[in-house]
Amino acid sequence: MVLTLYQIVWDLTMIHYPKRILIVEDNKADVRMLKDVLESQGYETLQTGDGLEAINLALAHLPDLILMDIQLPELSGLEVTRRLRCDDRSRHIPIVAVTAFAMGCHRREALDSGCNAYISKPISIVGFLSTVESFLPRLLR
Ligand code: MN
Repeated sequence: MVLTLYQIVWDLTMIHYPKRILIVEDNKADVRMLKDVLESQGYETLQTGDGLEAINLALAHLPDLILMDIQLPELSGLEVTRRLRCDDRSRHIPIVAVTAFAMGCHRREALDSGCNAYISKPISIVGFLSTVESFLPRLLR
Protein backbone atom coordinates (compact mmCIF):
# COMPACT_ATOMS: atom_id res chain seq x y z
CA MET A 1 0.00 0.00 0.00
CA VAL A 2 1.31 3.42 -0.95
CA LEU A 3 0.63 6.19 1.53
CA THR A 4 0.22 9.54 -0.15
CA LEU A 5 0.99 12.81 1.58
CA TYR A 6 -2.73 13.56 1.51
CA GLN A 7 -3.49 10.26 3.16
CA ILE A 8 -1.05 11.08 5.94
CA VAL A 9 -2.51 14.58 6.37
CA TRP A 10 -5.97 13.03 6.53
CA ASP A 11 -4.93 10.53 9.17
CA LEU A 12 -3.32 13.27 11.27
CA THR A 13 -6.46 15.37 10.89
CA MET A 14 -8.53 12.43 12.06
CA ILE A 15 -6.32 12.05 15.11
CA HIS A 16 -6.62 15.71 16.05
CA TYR A 17 -10.11 16.50 14.74
CA PRO A 18 -11.86 13.17 14.38
CA LYS A 19 -15.14 13.19 12.51
CA ARG A 20 -18.01 12.36 14.80
CA ILE A 21 -20.85 10.07 13.80
CA LEU A 22 -24.11 9.67 15.71
CA ILE A 23 -25.39 6.09 15.48
CA VAL A 24 -29.15 5.92 16.05
CA GLU A 25 -29.88 2.22 16.30
CA ASP A 26 -31.78 0.12 18.83
CA ASN A 27 -30.39 -3.28 17.86
CA LYS A 28 -27.40 -4.02 20.10
CA ALA A 29 -25.61 -6.28 17.62
CA ASP A 30 -25.94 -3.69 14.85
CA VAL A 31 -24.67 -0.95 17.17
CA ARG A 32 -21.62 -3.06 18.04
CA MET A 33 -20.84 -3.73 14.40
CA LEU A 34 -21.33 -0.13 13.22
CA LYS A 35 -19.29 1.21 16.14
CA ASP A 36 -16.42 -1.23 15.57
CA VAL A 37 -16.25 -0.56 11.85
CA LEU A 38 -16.38 3.22 12.24
CA GLU A 39 -13.95 3.41 15.16
CA SER A 40 -11.50 1.17 13.28
CA GLN A 41 -11.46 3.91 10.61
CA GLY A 42 -10.74 6.65 13.17
CA TYR A 43 -14.25 8.04 13.51
CA GLU A 44 -15.63 8.98 16.91
CA THR A 45 -19.10 7.68 17.62
CA LEU A 46 -22.05 8.61 19.78
CA GLN A 47 -24.92 6.21 20.12
CA THR A 48 -28.54 5.96 21.14
CA GLY A 49 -31.45 3.66 20.41
CA ASP A 50 -34.05 6.29 21.28
CA GLY A 51 -35.45 8.86 18.86
CA LEU A 52 -35.91 11.75 21.29
CA GLU A 53 -32.46 11.22 22.73
CA ALA A 54 -31.12 11.18 19.17
CA ILE A 55 -32.51 14.68 18.63
CA ASN A 56 -30.98 15.90 21.90
CA LEU A 57 -27.59 14.34 21.11
CA ALA A 58 -27.61 15.72 17.58
CA LEU A 59 -28.32 19.26 18.80
CA ALA A 60 -25.85 19.03 21.68
CA HIS A 61 -22.94 17.56 19.71
CA LEU A 62 -23.65 18.53 16.09
CA PRO A 63 -22.11 15.34 14.66
CA ASP A 64 -20.62 15.31 11.15
CA LEU A 65 -22.99 12.53 10.08
CA ILE A 66 -25.97 10.62 11.48
CA LEU A 67 -26.74 6.97 10.81
CA MET A 68 -30.47 6.60 11.29
CA ASP A 69 -32.21 3.31 11.86
CA ILE A 70 -35.76 3.76 10.62
CA GLN A 71 -37.38 1.17 12.90
CA LEU A 72 -37.04 2.59 16.42
CA PRO A 73 -39.26 1.80 19.42
CA GLU A 74 -40.81 5.24 20.02
CA LEU A 75 -40.28 7.93 17.42
CA SER A 76 -39.42 6.42 14.04
CA GLY A 77 -36.18 7.37 12.34
CA LEU A 78 -38.25 9.13 9.68
CA GLU A 79 -39.88 11.34 12.32
CA VAL A 80 -36.52 12.04 13.97
CA THR A 81 -35.12 13.02 10.57
CA ARG A 82 -38.06 15.33 9.83
CA ARG A 83 -37.59 17.07 13.20
CA LEU A 84 -33.85 17.50 12.65
CA ARG A 85 -34.56 18.98 9.23
CA CYS A 86 -36.87 21.60 10.79
CA ASP A 87 -34.17 22.91 13.11
CA ASP A 88 -31.58 25.35 11.80
CA ARG A 89 -28.93 23.81 14.03
CA SER A 90 -29.26 20.35 12.50
CA ARG A 91 -30.77 20.77 9.04
CA HIS A 92 -27.36 20.58 7.32
CA ILE A 93 -26.15 17.34 8.99
CA PRO A 94 -26.01 14.45 6.50
CA ILE A 95 -28.32 11.61 7.51
CA VAL A 96 -27.91 8.08 6.17
CA ALA A 97 -30.98 5.92 6.73
CA VAL A 98 -30.40 2.29 7.69
CA THR A 99 -33.26 -0.15 7.46
CA ALA A 100 -34.07 -3.81 7.27
CA PHE A 101 -36.71 -3.14 4.64
CA ALA A 102 -35.23 -3.03 1.18
CA MET A 103 -38.41 -2.08 -0.62
CA GLY A 104 -38.39 0.87 -3.00
CA CYS A 105 -41.17 2.69 -1.16
CA HIS A 106 -39.13 2.78 2.04
CA ARG A 107 -36.22 4.24 0.17
CA ARG A 108 -38.47 6.94 -1.28
CA GLU A 109 -39.98 7.61 2.14
CA ALA A 110 -36.54 7.97 3.76
CA LEU A 111 -35.37 10.42 1.11
CA ASP A 112 -38.65 12.37 1.28
CA SER A 113 -38.22 12.70 5.05
CA GLY A 114 -34.88 14.38 4.54
CA CYS A 115 -32.37 11.54 4.61
CA ASN A 116 -29.47 12.06 2.19
CA ALA A 117 -28.85 8.39 1.48
CA TYR A 118 -30.20 4.98 2.28
CA ILE A 119 -28.60 1.65 3.03
CA SER A 120 -30.35 -1.59 3.80
CA LYS A 121 -29.52 -4.37 6.23
CA PRO A 122 -27.71 -6.69 6.13
CA ILE A 123 -25.00 -4.07 5.75
CA SER A 124 -22.06 -4.64 3.44
CA ILE A 125 -19.08 -3.10 5.23
CA VAL A 126 -17.36 -1.87 2.07
CA GLY A 127 -20.54 -0.30 0.70
CA PHE A 128 -21.38 1.16 4.08
CA LEU A 129 -17.96 2.81 4.48
CA SER A 130 -18.00 4.22 0.98
CA THR A 131 -21.44 5.75 1.64
CA VAL A 132 -20.15 7.28 4.88
CA GLU A 133 -17.02 8.58 3.15
CA SER A 134 -19.04 10.13 0.36
CA PHE A 135 -20.33 12.57 2.99
CA LEU A 136 -17.02 12.89 4.88
CA PRO A 137 -14.53 12.95 2.02
CA ARG A 138 -10.87 12.34 2.49
CA LEU A 139 -8.72 15.15 1.16
CA LEU A 140 -7.71 13.02 -1.82
CA ARG A 141 -7.68 9.32 -2.41
MN1 MN B 1 -34.37 -0.88 14.89
